[in-house]
Amino acid sequence: MHILRKGVLQQPPSQLPGREQENARKVTSIDIYDVKLAATAATQWNPVVVRINTDEGIYGLGEVALAYGVGAPAGLGMVKHLAERFLIGADPFRAEQLWDEMYRRTFWAQGGGPVVFGGMSAIDEALWDIKGKALGVPVYELLGGKVRDRIFAYATGNDTDWQLELGFKAVKLACPYGPADGLWGLDENEKLVAKTRELVGDQVEIMLDCYMAFDVEYTVRLAERLRPYQLRWIEEYLIPEDLDGHMAVRRRLPWQTLATGEHMYTPWPFRQLIVRGAVDILQPDIFWVGGLTACRRIAQMADAAGLTVILHGGGLHPFGQHLTVAMPNMPWAEFFIASPPGVPLEEMRRIPGTRLPVDGWLTVNDGPGFGMDIPEEWLEPFEG
Ligand SMILES: [Mg+2]
Repeated sequence: MHILRKGVLQQPPSQLPGREQENARKVTSIDIYDVKLAATAATQWNPVVVRINTDEGIYGLGEVALAYGVGAPAGLGMVKHLAERFLIGADPFRAEQLWDEMYRRTFWAQGGGPVVFGGMSAIDEALWDIKGKALGVPVYELLGGKVRDRIFAYATGNDTDWQLELGFKAVKLACPYGPADGLWGLDENEKLVAKTRELVGDQVEIMLDCYMAFDVEYTVRLAERLRPYQLRWIEEYLIPEDLDGHMAVRRRLPWQTLATGEHMYTPWPFRQLIVRGAVDILQPDIFWVGGLTACRRIAQMADAAGLTVILHGGGLHPFGQHLTVAMPNMPWAEFFIASPPGVPLEEMRRIPGTRLPVDGWLTVNDGPGFGMDIPEEWLEPFEG
C-alpha cells in the first residue's frame, strides 16, 4: 500500500466544524502585563481537515488545528512537506516508525513547536484512520479495545448555568484576572469561583484554567484563597517551559491537584513532568503534541507513574474520543461548549462522526478508523 503524492486537501475554515470565540473574560500568557489583548488565542483558532489518499483508494483524515497567528496555511504547508518527504511510497500501517522518521529527520532542521508537530499530528491521525479503514475496525480496537463504555465529559466555558442544564457534572472556568490586576483581580477571581460553587453545589466538580498567565507567587496566593472551594484542579498556571516554576508550585501547594500540558510538544516534556512529579494530570493536545502516537506514548508513561491524562479538547472530536475510550488512565474528556447558552449542542459545527455528550457522558462511534465521513463538497485541493 502506498500513499500518493496527490493527497493533501483542505476544507475551507469557514465551513468547518469547530469552536467559536468564547466571550468570557479570561487571562492569557501576556497578562503578567497590564495590557489587555483585544483577541485571545481562541479567536485565531483555525482548524482544517486534511485527507491523505492511498493507492488502494483508502484515505485517512487528520486535523490541523493551529492558533496564535501561525494558522492553517503554515500547518498545511508542513503537512504537504512531510507527506511529500516521508509518505510517498511508504507503508501507512507503520505509524510508529513514520512518527519517529518524521521527528528525527525534521526537528533539528525545522525547529520544533506547533508548525512541525501540528503537521505531524495531522499525518499521524490520518495514518491511524487509514489502518482502521483498511482492517475494517475502529481505531479504539487498534489501541487495545475499549476500557470503558462511556467517557465522563467535563464542560469548559463560563456559562455554568447552561452547562448544568446540559447535565454536566464537572465544569472548568477560565480564570478572568491575573497578576497585573492586583488584589482587586484576586478578589474577582475568588468571587467567580465562590459564586460557581454556590451555584453547582458540592456534587459537581469545578476546575480553573489559568492559561499560562501567572507566576509562582500568584499561583500560590490564588490557590490558597480558593482552597475552601475544593477545586478539582488548577490548570496551566505557568508558561510550559518553566519546569523549575512548576516544581516550586508543586512544593508550595502539595494539597492542590495540578494540571498542564496543552502547549507542550512531543512526549519528552511530559516525561520531565512525570519523573519530577511536577503535576498530577497531563493534558496533551492530540493536534499539537504529535498526534495519537505521541498521546499514547505519553499516556503509557504516565500510567506507569500512576498519573492521569486528560486530553486537551479530547471530547470534541473522534480522534480524542477513540483514544480516550481505550486508555486506562484517561478517565475524563474535555468538551468546550462552542454554542451560546440555549443553543443545543447538536447545532455546534463539528466533524461528522463526533458523538456529543448526553447528561455529561460521551460515547464513541464504531468506525472504521475514526468513523468520520467528510462530505466531498467540503474538500478542495491545497495548492500551497
Ligand atoms: Mg487549558
